[in-house]
Amino acid sequence: MNTVKKSSAVITALVLLITSLLSLNAYAANNLRYFERGVLTDGTNTAYYIIDKDNRVLYLSGDGVTTARTPDYPSAAEGPFAGRTDVTRIVIAEGVGRIGDYVFANMTAVDTLEIQSNLLSSESNMSAKAMIGCTGLRNIQGDNALLSTNVMLEVIKGAVNIASANWLSLVTNGINLIKTGVNGDNSLDDEIVAAMINDYIMTGEEIYLGNLDQTIASYEERVANPCYYNNEYHHNYQHFVSTAPTCTAGGEDMYICQTCNHTYLVPTEALGHSYEQSVMFEPTCTKKGVMEYTCTRCGDSEYHAIPAKGHTEGEWVVSKEPSKTGVGSIELHCAECDGIISTVRYSYTVGINQNANTVSALKAKYENTAQKIRITRNGTELSSSARVGTGCVITYVSSSDSTKIQEISTVILYGDVNGDGLINSADHSLMYGDAFSDKNVIDKSSAFFTAADMNGDGVIDGFDYFLQDGIISGGRNFDQYVLYK
Ligand SMILES: [Zn+2]
Ligand SMILES: [Zn+2]
Ligand SMILES: [Zn+2]
Repeated sequence: MNTVKKSSAVITALVLLITSLLSLNAYAANNLRYFERGVLTDGTNTAYYIIDKDNRVLYLSGDGVTTARTPDYPSAAEGPFAGRTDVTRIVIAEGVGRIGDYVFANMTAVDTLEIQSNLLSSESNMSAKAMIGCTGLRNIQGDNALLSTNVMLEVIKGAVNIASANWLSLVTNGINLIKTGVNGDNSLDDEIVAAMINDYIMTGEEIYLGNLDQTIASYEERVANPCYYNNEYHHNYQHFVSTAPTCTAGGEDMYICQTCNHTYLVPTEALGHSYEQSVMFEPTCTKKGVMEYTCTRCGDSEYHAIPAKGHTEGEWVVSKEPSKTGVGSIELHCAECDGIISTVRYSYTVGINQNANTVSALKAKYENTAQKIRITRNGTELSSSARVGTGCVITYVSSSDSTKIQEISTVILYGDVNGDGLINSADHSLMYGDAFSDKNVIDKSSAFFTAADMNGDGVIDGFDYFLQDGIISGGRNFDQYVLYK
């Protein structure tokens, strides 16, 4: 055993290390159970016990050959388990023929007594003093025939210190009688207990279930370690960085127990770069820029494209005036770079009926399955009941995609000089100054000038005023198609 222990000491230490990392309970991790065991003997009477430390069960047993008999003990204070609180259940296995005075005295944590042995037929088999001071006793479990005896009543009465030894009195004092056989939860069966007792006789004071060589070796490791007590390790680890991680490589942390020098290593993850970004080249409307990423820790650099910004829609600019013989063109310029985003057809819309010139009336006239229109005045879309006049803009878009502009057209309603869609006295007085003096109120480059120059001779004069008056007074017809015939 010693040879095995020495040659495998390092491996065992590693196993223990890993085990202690996984769980404080080395037995659970190794799938082992830990038992304490001992003998009660005065040289004449002998019984054996094992205590299942995990489940807090004490088994009193024989060795499977000879009927077990415990000695008597002189007082409750001198009982072999007196004062112990690590047992909650006592199982008296088959093969026990006698339990003497004070054997289980003062085990205050015991709440269950399980009887598997037919020793209650007389007080000489179980002393009424056996459980004196077991004040937590609440459950008596076992086969019916083993429980219904006056001896049992006396034992329990002695344990919990009640006045009269009858079942009714016990029940009123909270004692439960569980007449449902033997081997309750976590109990070992008699054969295992007897086998463990016999193993005790062969080898020593403590026993484990599992691979005996392995468990004894690991147990010897444990008990030799100053950090091992109360059935578990209590290492006092201090943390050291043995290899610091970098941006791209992992490191290693070391933990050393300050008491026993037990050491283990834990790999740590690479930190990853800590990039800060800065613009190297700004993108333009149409060209990508460059972003530089520099790691603040290691200086590593990366370069990534910044997407082009794309144009920003700005002003529409007429690049070719429409004429009698054909449409012109208009360009949408970028507000940022003045680049041309798109070019579409540009026209004047003439021939509007001044008595049927609401937005809805024009929509009825110009919209079809291929195109829709929207009509704006000074950039603001008009409602369907609004009148459309000179200077309003009709935008033709695809009926399937309203962002797809096909044509832009400026409305000319001859005679409507202020653009409100009506030809009335307000327009008449607006034209007056330009027609009969040189006030030049109306901007010559505007649609309003075209609307005022009703005979199309390039000058606003009395002839235009006369034509406008014909519309307002209703006295003379005016052909709104005059310029585009
Ligand atoms: Zn330690
Ligand atoms: Zn880095
Ligand atoms: Zn642009």
